[in-house]
Amino acid sequence: MVKQHIHSLDAQAWAEWLHQEQFSPKVLNFVLDFVYQKKLTANLPSQFPKFLKDFFSDNTPVISEVHVSEDSTAKFLIQFEDGVQVESVLIPFNKKPTICLSSQAGCAMNCSFCYTGTQGLKRNLRAEEIIGQYLVVRDWMRENQKIDLNPNIVFMGQGEPFHNWQEVNLALSIFLHKKMVGLGPRQITLSTSGFMEGFDAKVLPPINYALSLHSPFESQREELIPINKKYPLKSVIGNLQKIELLPRQFITYEYLLIRDFNMSDEHALALGELLSGTKSIINLIPFNPFPGSRWERPSKEEIDLFKEKLVEQKLRVMIRTTKGDDILAACGQLKVNKFSRKKYV
Ligand code: SF4
Repeated sequence: MVKQHIHSLDAQAWAEWLHQEQFSPKVLNFVLDFVYQKKLTANLPSQFPKFLKDFFSDNTPVISEVHVSEDSTAKFLIQFEDGVQVESVLIPFNKKPTICLSSQAGCAMNCSFCYTGTQGLKRNLRAEEIIGQYLVVRDWMRENQKIDLNPNIVFMGQGEPFHNWQEVNLALSIFLHKKMVGLGPRQITLSTSGFMEGFDAKVLPPINYALSLHSPFESQREELIPINKKYPLKSVIGNLQKIELLPRQFITYEYLLIRDFNMSDEHALALGELLSGTKSIINLIPFNPFPGSRWERPSKEEIDLFKEKLVEQKLRVMIRTTKGDDILAACGQLKVNKFSRKKYV
């Protein structure tokens, strides 16, 4: 019999299992403390760990390689039981480190600026594999960087999270549960290319959401993100604006800056028409070249000038500092491939 994975149960499923095995519902929190914090209290029988093993598997994915960039960004090659590998990245932001997680092995969206998109979709990740990536990278960070924190999460690694929504949603409920991983809703950001199948703003968990925007013009966006043909930008933005936001929460619109392509006065004007007056932040991301890419990265002057044009349109704008581009760990550069730079495992 194939055992269910211990990190694939949400709180409801744990409650049902306890009922089925004739435990009191009062021990739920102690069970979760044991599963997620490795704390075994006197409220559980001493043979409980062994009993649990009879029902559930608890294998975590394995870090097969780690490469650390000059700016301390760490890229991990993570392998699952069936040999499939994905990449996750630990990014050292000032206040809190952030782990960029993959939701799929490869990706079906085929965005033209994205290294991951060139490898196609291998398979969806299961919730326990998404949780497992987080736990092994967090433990590596605690051991190697002596940072005893729960890092933030961005779903910006390999894959389109809404294309694997059932498993991503289950993983989110485990990340957010106080007795499980225990992250706050504002610690998690889900970034989508605009794949909207089954999208319902009313049932989404209250985390941060981001859209890969990259052009305000439908035909140009289609060139970058083919799924735009099926889900045009205007309808995607309309859907995202239905998400209920807290007073100081915004939808983030990621905008890759590509020289001589999407940085003209017309682009700035159209972005103003599309987004001014909405609860939005535009995150400008200078394009990260990868082997064989056809686009170019703009200069710092070109970037600053475009930012000024957007500010004139009364838009909130940030420029994202690129991290880890010397090890191909930056946005749009993830693909299981040969690594370079400092290697730890
Ligand atoms: S940018 Fe995101 S959605 Fe597009 S191909 Fe890459 S991983 Fe997939």
